[in-house]
Amino acid sequence: MASGTLTVDLEALVQNWRALGALAGTEAGAVVKADAYGLGVGPVSRALAKAGARSFFVATAEEAATLRRELGDGPTIYIFSGHMAGDTDMIGDLSLVPLLNSIDQLQRHLEALPGAPFGVQLDTGMNRLGMEPAEWAALRDLALAQGPSLIMSHLSSADEPQSAMNALQLRVFKDMTDGIDVPRSLAATGGTLLGPDYHFDLVRPGVGLYGGAPYKEALPVAYLELPVVQVRDVEAGESVGYNMGYVARQPRRVATLSAGYADGLIRALSGKAKLYYGQRECALLGRVSMDLITVDITHLPEVPASLTLLGRQQGVDTLATAAGTIGYEILTSLGARYTRRYSGG
Ligand SMILES: *Cc1c(COP(=O)(O)O)cnc(C)c1O
Repeated sequence: MASGTLTVDLEALVQNWRALGALAGTEAGAVVKADAYGLGVGPVSRALAKAGARSFFVATAEEAATLRRELGDGPTIYIFSGHMAGDTDMIGDLSLVPLLNSIDQLQRHLEALPGAPFGVQLDTGMNRLGMEPAEWAALRDLALAQGPSLIMSHLSSADEPQSAMNALQLRVFKDMTDGIDVPRSLAATGGTLLGPDYHFDLVRPGVGLYGGAPYKEALPVAYLELPVVQVRDVEAGESVGYNMGYVARQPRRVATLSAGYADGLIRALSGKAKLYYGQRECALLGRVSMDLITVDITHLPEVPASLTLLGRQQGVDTLATAAGTIGYEILTSLGARYTRRYSGG
């Protein structure tokens, strides 16, 4: 078998969710947008629902419709992008809850689906999604009269605890919502770690569930094992891979592994990533190809059947750092060709 194996530890996922909820002392929702950060929205969401998660968040109505099929009736499914033109049937038929971002979305929702649930997203300074303070001041009486189920906003810099932006956004959020009798949510993973001022009634962790920074205590959730397809010995002076990306200075034993940029091993990993055989580190040599990478195994005592790219030896953030990116991008890039295994849950 030449496909890599991506193992998702659902037990660790559930433990991370419980730990973040315990830290917050409030309800913990689960952000499962982008196919649960690349790990599979069906198994991930079902495991979390079974563990007691009641509020799920996705980016689009299409994602929400997929999630409803996975979860059945019961859990609340929120949509960050709100109520877009064309979403009305899905939102109505599947009881999805759009987080309305603007006066246009509020009007669309109230006209198309009167009485249907909704939440409100406020912009407290990130300038990405949500109603701005002046817009909210004008709409709030109308919106509150319809009984929104959640009012939320999003922090731009929660992964930098020392950033003044956190306290600033907190103040704006409180100014916009204090005294309103509707559940409130401000914190994603980073905000959950900022302390009780940021927790309100519900936290919305995403990346921390999947074992990523800034939640340092997270248990690893994703394990990626790549099979060795071929091994060869190269002489000093020979090159390996496209454009002679690596040139051997001494004789080397090179393993060719089945996975490449089409599987989410972004090209920025070329010449930088490390793989593991047990605790032994093996350097990726030369360029990442579409389907293959080449790895130095000169120092190994035997020819391995496979090497580990993600595991206890190396998590998504370490790998991301090698490529100059963040764990979120490594996770959400994980490709469709891996054999996926789900353990625990
Ligand atoms: C993606 C997202 C989250 C989850 O963020 P993490 O940093 O992955 O925990 C929460 N809220 C909103 C609005 C988001 O877009």
